[in-house]
This record gives sequence, C-alpha cells and structure tokens, in this order.
Amino acid sequence: MTIFSCSTCAIEHADAPESPGRCEICEDERQWVPASGQSWTTRDELEARGHSMEVRELEPNLHAITTTPKLGIGQRGLLVRTPGGNLLFEPPGFIDAAGARRIDELGGVAAIASSHPHLTGSSIQYSHRFGHVPVYVAAADEQWIRRPDPVIRLWEGKVEMLPGLWMYQCGGHFAGSSVVHWPAGRKGAGVLVSGDTIAVGGDRTSANAMRSYVNNIPLPASAIERILDIVMPLEFTRMYSAFGVLEEDAHTAVERTLRRYISWVNGEMPE
Ligand SMILES: [Zn+2]
Ligand SMILES: [Zn+2]
Repeated sequence: MTIFSCSTCAIEHADAPESPGRCEICEDERQWVPASGQSWTTRDELEARGHSMEVRELEPNLHAITTTPKLGIGQRGLLVRTPGGNLLFEPPGFIDAAGARRIDELGGVAAIASSHPHLTGSSIQYSHRFGHVPVYVAAADEQWIRRPDPVIRLWEGKVEMLPGLWMYQCGGHFAGSSVVHWPAGRKGAGVLVSGDTIAVGGDRTSANAMRSYVNNIPLPASAIERILDIVMPLEFTRMYSAFGVLEEDAHTAVERTLRRYISWVNGEMPE
C-alpha cells in the first residue's frame, strides 16, 4: 500500500495499491486541475527528487515549516509553541527525518490543525510521526477528508486544542474555515493565525476572504459579517494568513478592509 499525494494540491490520500485517479479537492470549483491533467506523487518520490523540509523562526515561539523546492501550492506550515505543547498548523505535503528531528528539538507536536481542507497537506503522516497526536478537522468539512484515520478529531464552533489556544469556526471559504487565536503571540499582544479563512492582500495592509481565491468567487456580505463577529472580540495585533502577514495593527486592518469588502459586494461603490 502507498500513500499517494496529489501533485497539484499536495494533499495525502488514503493508503491504496494504486493512485486514486481523481482529486476531488482539485476538481472542486474552488481549485483547478492543471492543463496537463491529474498527476500523483509519493513521499519517497519527492525525497528522491530532492525535496526537503525547512524550519525557520518567524518570531519567538513561532516557526515556519516549508518544503524546498516548492511543493503543491507552496504552503507554509506554522509551529506555534506554547507551555502546554506545540500546535502544528497547516503542515506541508512532505515530511522528512531531518525536519521532524528539528521539530523534536523545538518541543515536538501536541496537536495538528488546518484552517480548511486545502491546507491539510500530510497531516496524518505528521501525526503518526509525532505520537499519533490529534488532527482537528471541522465537522462541517468532514466530506473533504482524503485520508481517514483514527487520529482525526471532529469539532464544531470552537475548540481549545491546547491550554489557552483556541480555534474558532468562521465559515466562508469553506463551511468549516477556521482561525486560531494565540493570545501569547507577539510578546502577549496577541496573534491571529488565519490560514485562508482571512487572507492578506498584496499591499500587506489589507484583509479579504473569498469562496475561491484562484477562480475569484467572492463571498456574500453575510459571510464576511460572520467572520467579523467571531474575530473582532479577539485581541491581536498581528495576523499570519496562509500566504501573508499583517505585521502591525492587524485588528484595525481586518475590521477596516473587511467592512470595505462588505460595501463593495453590497453595491455601495465609492464615488
Ligand atoms: Zn489535488
Ligand atoms: Zn483554500
């Protein structure tokens, strides 16, 4: 049996004698299948091709976990270190022995989660490597689980994954799209880890949220309102999204620019 991963989204699929044929994640209207067609790879093949893990500090107690060369959509995992154990958020679609040992040196992994199905990577392989720790998946996105496993823990609404480290279900991009609030982050000023639930704009000062980022399908005002209702009560000054960061005044920027988004989708265009 082999663990096949989709070459486009880098998401691991259930152990099987042959590759699954179709990737339903990529066939969904939120993603894409390349013009060259569906293809699959394995961890061993990626290692033979020279892929390796990279672990890099972003700020105290926060490390980026990436793969070089770039794999799939180039996702960046995060290791959030807390006194009650470490959260591995959105692990990449590749794991190797040296990278895992580096994570051991940083205190290992006590829980794994992702903001939504697109960024689950090799979550189950990481869980098995780090003692079968729980992998949190929003129950609303259960249908998108590609590799079922007993380590998966379904949840809804909000969940305290580690002492003081909560994940909140916001919906929007996916029904189960979530954010993690890390109150101790940025020396106690608070950090929001938003994945693709709230994205950072190209100007590095704005936030947005879409049903599909690559196919430009927007969200209705009601979905943006719901995100604001959930994250505005949280204290944070920095926000790490899946592909960007609002370094300063993130709370203000999220409120201001998601309200601007609501105005545009409601047809209240500026003069
Ligand atoms: Zn795929
Ligand atoms: Zn996504």
